[in-house]
Amino acid sequence: MPNNVHIYDAVIVGAGGAGLRAALEASKGCKTAVVSKMYPTRSHTGAAQGGMCAALANVEEDSWEWHAFDTVKGGDFLSDQDAVDVMCQEAVESVLDLERMGLPFNRTPDGKIDQRRFGGHTRNHGEAAVKRACYAADRTGHMILQTLFQQCNKQGVEFYNEFFVLDLIIEGGVCGGIVAYEIATGEIHTFRAKAVLFATGGYGKMFKITSNAHTLTGDGPGLVYRKGLPLEDIEFFQFHPTGLYRLGILLSEAARGEGGILRNGDGERFMERYAPTIKDLAPRDMVSRAEFFEIKEGRGAGPNKDYVLLDLTAVDPEVVEAKLPDITEFARTYLGVDPLKEGVPTVPTAHYAMGGIPTNVNTEVLRSAHGEVVPGFYAAGECACVSVHGANRLGTNSLLDIIVFGRRGGLGMAEHAARTKLIDIPDDVAKPSEDWIASLTDGQSPEPIAAIRKDLQEEMWDKVSVLRTDEGLGQAINSVAHLRERYAKARVKDRSKVFNTELVEHIELGFIIDMAEALVISAKARTESRGGHYREDHQKRDDEHWLKHTFINKTPDGDTRLAYKPVTMGRYEPVERKY
Ligand SMILES: Cc1cc2nc3c(=O)[nH]c(=O)nc-3n(C[C@H](O)[C@H](O)[C@H](O)COP(=O)(O)OP(=O)(O)OC[C@H]3O[C@@H](n4cnc5c(N)ncnc54)[C@H](O)[C@@H]3O)c2cc1C
Repeated sequence: MPNNVHIYDAVIVGAGGAGLRAALEASKGCKTAVVSKMYPTRSHTGAAQGGMCAALANVEEDSWEWHAFDTVKGGDFLSDQDAVDVMCQEAVESVLDLERMGLPFNRTPDGKIDQRRFGGHTRNHGEAAVKRACYAADRTGHMILQTLFQQCNKQGVEFYNEFFVLDLIIEGGVCGGIVAYEIATGEIHTFRAKAVLFATGGYGKMFKITSNAHTLTGDGPGLVYRKGLPLEDIEFFQFHPTGLYRLGILLSEAARGEGGILRNGDGERFMERYAPTIKDLAPRDMVSRAEFFEIKEGRGAGPNKDYVLLDLTAVDPEVVEAKLPDITEFARTYLGVDPLKEGVPTVPTAHYAMGGIPTNVNTEVLRSAHGEVVPGFYAAGECACVSVHGANRLGTNSLLDIIVFGRRGGLGMAEHAARTKLIDIPDDVAKPSEDWIASLTDGQSPEPIAAIRKDLQEEMWDKVSVLRTDEGLGQAINSVAHLRERYAKARVKDRSKVFNTELVEHIELGFIIDMAEALVISAKARTESRGGHYREDHQKRDDEHWLKHTFINKTPDGDTRLAYKPVTMGRYEPVERKY
């Protein structure tokens, strides 16, 4: 076997919660490897704060069906209801499974897993907020990631850390592996596999203000897009209402779940006007929009009236210190504000991608809006769109999504591997990746990529964030096309083969540009407002024309094509979304 060719049954790209949960399951049935551009425990799942929800009913009466209703209504009725049922039903066992693996959840006085409130999660179809989020202080994601990584090691999952996946191998419509760049040596590796799962996370780095890690650049969905396969619902991006002013660092919604209140510059609890029943715990799209409106109408706080305040001063200081220690520290460290004594300046921050690589409930990747699959190719977690979150995700539903669909992905891969053979692939399958890497260092760069990235992030923030218009989106489409031309001329100065981070950032920027293109084109076409996609020029939801998923793909001549897929309905018919 030639050097740098590896053979597995299942290869998983990404070592966040979705990838590790998939690896744990797949490796029970077949030879499994995880390939990750970062050391696993640095994945963004480790930054998740507030919790993972499941209708355990440990603290208050609850049911998986109420949870499903909240998820569909929170998603503004764009969620596929078969997938939502799967997620909410499997939630309880998923949490208990993590508990059995040793995850240190916070406890009630009688020793059960404790639960707290989060936005949009309600009792009996919207009557009042319910305690559904299981948590480990405000470090829930960190605990999930550490627990899963330990379990994977115990079970002998093989890891290729700091390997950057550059290409997806598809022959005759069937997936046969991946090609990756080893960051420590600059060498190219080929991984042949019967099944490949993408779990590469989100792509918030296309926006100026974001809660996302620097590494969340949409490499997985970007690769899928380059292969001519479709992406789903990319126009739906979530802006979280409480990012630290100017920085975007997240202050978990748990702060409001524990009793925190949002106030405008006049000290008014403005959410009472927008969501009279559950107020500050309305879904994120509604709260972020309310903040933008308050600021736009001159009721912001601070010298420039350009933020709102998260007020925790009425919450018991012991609760703040015990259950929200990290975010309290963030406010003190980064803004010099003590949340126990004064309001914390906050603004919406780009947080979560509802759209992604389309899959069915078994995480098999869809080849088109008609629902055929790409055999051997799977996707799970934030990079995928199954679609449980519809047009807007509820807090704590993502950690749940990655565990439920990560497990299903692992199971599906092991079953697929047991009944198939490795497909034949050309000997020179890694050649395009080798040529690509070589071409990036073949000349002088007219400008540094940091300038291109900054311009992209500012344009996306100004024209494509919480409030959108036809005109702004049209300008953004032109800007992204222009930025793509600038990017095509840019070159990497550093020619070294060892830890060439300039090269890595260069490749990542290309994927963010792809994702920005897919987002702006999908968003301009959708002439309605739904969930995270708000059009000032089309302010109403339009179920007659738009109760459908967007599929976007690149054609061989470099154009883009849009298609639409009906939403899988179920028990819940669309109603006006009041909270
Ligand atoms: C600050 C913050 C707080 C959050 N809090 C919560 C919360 O309380 N509750 C909740 O439900 N959700 C929360 N979320 C959302 C949730 O954490 C994420 O959606 C989820 O963890 C994503 O998990 P993932 O496994 O899909 O991806 P990630 O954890 O992002 O992992 C992605 C993996 O892909 C790998 N990768 C990417 N590209 C490549 C490539 N080219 N080659 C090789 N490997 C690659 C990376 O190395 C990484 O291992 C939060 C998010 C943020 C940013």
